[in-house]
Amino acid sequence: MAIIKCQECGREISDTADFCPHCGWNLKQKRKERAQKQAQKELDGCLSLVVKCALGLIIVGVISLIFFPEKPEVKKCKEECNENPYYDQFGWYTAGEKRNKCMKSCEIRYK
Ligand SMILES: [Zn+2]
Repeated sequence: MAIIKCQECGREISDTADFCPHCGWNLKQKRKERAQKQAQKELDGCLSLVVKCALGLIIVGVISLIFFPEKPEVKKCKEECNENPYYDQFGWYTAGEKRNKCMKSCEIRYK
């Protein structure tokens, strides 16, 4: 246990006391408030980190769209893949596989 100064009357009191024996200042309440504030601060820190990460990802996405837009040929090619997944130069696959392969080939073709 340590001796601290009462914030109200300035006299020395034990830091484990719940109340100042001189003026009745509520240490217990103060400790509780401080603990809550600290917990809130940590929570805020976590939240703001998550928000910052999300914002960062969005910004990176927007920037990459602005500076590296998908070429119109690739977009058109992919649209064709979507409409026509069975249109074929790779053999027969399921529609999903076909579509993915078709889209990949669009990216490669127009790079
Ligand atoms: Zn006091």
